[in-house]
Amino acid sequence: MTNKALVLFSGGQDSTTCLAWALERFEQVETIGFDYGQRHAIELTCRGTVLNHVRERFPNWDSKLGEDHVLDISVLSSISETALTRDAEIAMGENGLPTTFVPGRNLVFLNFAGAVAYRRSAKHLVGGMCETDFSGYPDCRDDTLKAVQLALNLGMDKRFVIHTPLMWIDKSQIWELAHDIGGKSLVDLIVEDTHTCYLGNRDQRHSWGYGCGTCPACELRAQGWNKFRPERLQEAS
Ligand code: ZN
Repeated sequence: MTNKALVLFSGGQDSTTCLAWALERFEQVETIGFDYGQRHAIELTCRGTVLNHVRERFPNWDSKLGEDHVLDISVLSSISETALTRDAEIAMGENGLPTTFVPGRNLVFLNFAGAVAYRRSAKHLVGGMCETDFSGYPDCRDDTLKAVQLALNLGMDKRFVIHTPLMWIDKSQIWELAHDIGGKSLVDLIVEDTHTCYLGNRDQRHSWGYGCGTCPACELRAQGWNKFRPERLQEAS
């Protein structure tokens, strides 16, 4: 089906914004998530909550939102030694990449997503990859995504389109985009339900949501929130 999308949905701020973006554009939207032994496995619980609340609070989207696919690819953690998949310090590595970099993670995700999209007859793949301020992961680069799109199309003899609506915007603009699409209720849902913290912390509640507040993912989310200046929305209303 040409108007069906599969969203790579982790339960975080970025992929929830992408989900809303897709629900505004496509007639049918399905979601896919991956269990790869991530330290912040709590995000797998959060994604269920986000999906339920999206259905409840956005009736227009409920009818478009289809099946959720969760794939167990725990083998990824057994072949990678990183701070995202084991109890190691999150820091900058000697290779100039953060120790949270899981080599090839997005390549693996996209190939599995392509296989599921093939089976589910979805033409569009939507992902929250971003070049702007996201730690320099090479598999989030626009060129990487374009190469993957070409590889999927050649390898499966299909015409998939990979969409990355966040590629050239920063974290504050991602909050802005969510607000443009779903207003305050979507922003509130993202603050309350989505998970970003690398350490899987949900004990501490900040104005921007839950997290340890000090890991790189929390810092980025908080900086974006402060620049977004949500209080100005209150002033305007
Ligand atoms: Zn954190």
